[in-house]
Amino acid sequence: MRLVLKLLLVLLAGFASVMWLAELGGSVEIRLADLWIGMPLAAAILALIGGFLLLHGLLRLWSWLLAWPERRRLRLHLEHRAEADLALTRGLVALAAGRPDAARIEVARARRLMGDTPQLLLLAAEAARAEGDEPAATLAFEALAAQPEARFLGLRGLLRQAEARGDWDAARDIAAEAQAKEPEAEWLRAERSEVARRREDWSEALALSGADAPRAALSLAAARQEGDPVRAGELERQAFLAEPGFTPAVLAHANRLLDAGHPRRARGVLQQGWNAAPHPDIAEALLALETDRIRRVRLVDELTRQTMAHPESRLLRARVALDAGLTGRARHELTLWRETGQADRRCYALLGEVERAEHGPDAAREREAGWLREAAQAPLEPVWRCGHCGAEHNAWKPLCQACGTAGAIVWSGAAR
Ligand SMILES: [Zn+2]
Repeated sequence: MRLVLKLLLVLLAGFASVMWLAELGGSVEIRLADLWIGMPLAAAILALIGGFLLLHGLLRLWSWLLAWPERRRLRLHLEHRAEADLALTRGLVALAAGRPDAARIEVARARRLMGDTPQLLLLAAEAARAEGDEPAATLAFEALAAQPEARFLGLRGLLRQAEARGDWDAARDIAAEAQAKEPEAEWLRAERSEVARRREDWSEALALSGADAPRAALSLAAARQEGDPVRAGELERQAFLAEPGFTPAVLAHANRLLDAGHPRRARGVLQQGWNAAPHPDIAEALLALETDRIRRVRLVDELTRQTMAHPESRLLRARVALDAGLTGRARHELTLWRETGQADRRCYALLGEVERAEHGPDAAREREAGWLREAAQAPLEPVWRCGHCGAEHNAWKPLCQACGTAGAIVWSGAAR
């Protein structure tokens, strides 16, 4: 409506101007040699405007004709795009419905129409994977990785494939490249840490580990791989500081101090480790420093002062007492342990030994058999066990070979 009003106003103004000019009179003359053209001013202005409009119209027509092939191409492109979008949607639906074969047909149709767009390549790869066609999926992921904007998507797909086939070296390279592309991707850092653990590259696993990683286990594992003794010693110290109750780190750190000629500090570390989590290996390491049986009893008294009621303390005190011929003291410790109702088989086995030491092998036979019967009912002694799959291990290791989990092997026994 406003446009019509505007047009009307312009027409009125034009008409008024022409009328005004016509009333004003005047004429335009063009003389060229003998040629003479003369016309009223209003008619000349009208002719000029008419000529301008005609020329403008002709130019518009010309550019419209020139752009015609491009418009046709664009229209076709849009039609193809709409068809390809439909095929893509049908492909996604087919994949979600668990029909990867149908999804691949739709993707092939869409690729013919639109070429290799990142979305189509991703869907092609996922459909191929769902159908178990890994080589085709690899090709699609590689094509995706070749496109600068979609490179990360391609690398992510290739990483998952490498992990699935257990090619951890390839997985490490791909993950590092993907991280360089997306430095902020937190899940990728965790993934790289997991890949490093699978490769048993413990220093890399430690460097990439997050706050919830088993740092003590990773540090100790890295120390075992470290060629430089100074750095290995530092890693062992860090493992011990991260978890003073982690016996393998306690022993490694204490042994390193002993080798360096610091027996007092080594004993301090063993004491600290025992206070945090009494473990028979710590006792063994400490007793290796003392051969006199009576002095061993005193050494153990000192070691277990803060953990008197702990089963490992009771057992250790009984064992050194028995070695020193103090059978009454050994029996007292074992009886106290037994009365808690938590005593494991070692308690009854040692009570049998006490009987033999007190009464001689023959007289003790009957009593010993009684303890052995009780032992059969008692819980098993603690062992190194994988917290993930439950597999037993004869010593601590950074990686459970049974299930491939790192840092999961723990001393599963009496409460720490
Ligand atoms: Zn396991």
